[in-house]
Amino acid sequence: MVTVPATETTGYDDAVELLESTAEELNLRDDVLLLLRRPHRELHVQVPVRMDDGSVSVFSGIRVQHNGARGPYKGGVRFHPEADLDEVRTLASLMTWKCALVDVPFGGAKGGVQCDPAQLSVSELNRVTRRYTQNIAHLIGINRDIPAPDMGTNAQTMAWMMDAYGQLEGYTPGIVTGKPVALGGSLGREAATGRGVVLVLQQLCRDLGRDPKTQSVAVQGFGNVGSWAARIADEAGFPVVAVSDITGATYDETGLDITAVMNHVNDGGLVSEFPGASAITNEELLSLPCDVLIPAANGDAITTANCDNVRADIIIEAANHPLTTEADDALTQRGTLIVPDILANAGGVIVSYFEWTQNIQQFRWEEKQVNGELATRITQAYRSVSDLSRERRIPMRRGAYLLAVKRVAEAITMRGFV
Ligand code: GLU
Repeated sequence: MVTVPATETTGYDDAVELLESTAEELNLRDDVLLLLRRPHRELHVQVPVRMDDGSVSVFSGIRVQHNGARGPYKGGVRFHPEADLDEVRTLASLMTWKCALVDVPFGGAKGGVQCDPAQLSVSELNRVTRRYTQNIAHLIGINRDIPAPDMGTNAQTMAWMMDAYGQLEGYTPGIVTGKPVALGGSLGREAATGRGVVLVLQQLCRDLGRDPKTQSVAVQGFGNVGSWAARIADEAGFPVVAVSDITGATYDETGLDITAVMNHVNDGGLVSEFPGASAITNEELLSLPCDVLIPAANGDAITTANCDNVRADIIIEAANHPLTTEADDALTQRGTLIVPDILANAGGVIVSYFEWTQNIQQFRWEEKQVNGELATRITQAYRSVSDLSRERRIPMRRGAYLLAVKRVAEAITMRGFV
């Protein structure tokens, strides 16, 4: 578990502070800011579930719809012990800015069930998912709010959600994205977030005139996002020197064979026990002498307690909110280039958008088309953020927020809400 220093604020207050400073720079109308400061709708539900031993557990379930001016609400469902209202709210607001920045026609939402999926059996997880879905069913819909996977959930969870929703409303594959391909999921969706991370890194290296072969990469986290980012970076010629899971990391300064690490993990091995490389801790991974650091695990992984140890001069935020605001400020002042989460990890929601359109049309795209359209969209978003940041001499996060908040504010005003 990460311990955030007591002096550091995290969560929704930080998100509002960032919004307010962006609004000031944009000269946003006060009434529009008033609307954006708070989520549109928040639902808190009980999720009572019969456990395998016959007892009943009551989990806490949440769905927050932050802003829907640009389209139906969109965002993942997180199964995690820390998925409380403040965290889900924060993540829902990130989805609003992310969808606007990469110009997919969605608003922002997020869901959560406060549970530890590692402690639940498959049938318990199935029942948690179904009960949560039933309890939020009146808020979601193919043109209202479309959930997807996030931390602690995956394609199987989406299959259960689709089935539970279908029992109430009839066959509706577009109700969730990130489904198994056999149930209408999109080819390329599983790898999409990691692929987007690497596409952004490649663009940045091109801009900086750096050859990928000379840029060593360390990836913190080997879940869906981290493992795909590591694999695609490796395929793209970057030496991936370290990867980690929650138990520890593996390091080889000449570059790891990521396919071999994946095979080792798929066979039930721990990342840190990968043969032929050195076992190090997660904290040591963050302070490796590498060029690029990709935090792809939990939020607030980099704080003022450890940011001074970071030696990479590029950070690509594959996780949501992996840096506290204070760590972000300190590293930016030191000259570290930070590609913000709402750009770097947007590949997932971009391909979710493609999945949703394919479901609506009852049509399937080839994987090549999915990957090609993903590259076009994320590269366009990267370009606009990078150009604005360079022009105004501001960090990329500031540039990304200026673009995203402006788009959402314009949609609000055009709709005539205020
Ligand atoms: N959970 C992912 C994210 O944070 C994907 C959301 C989606 O595809 O709707 O971006």
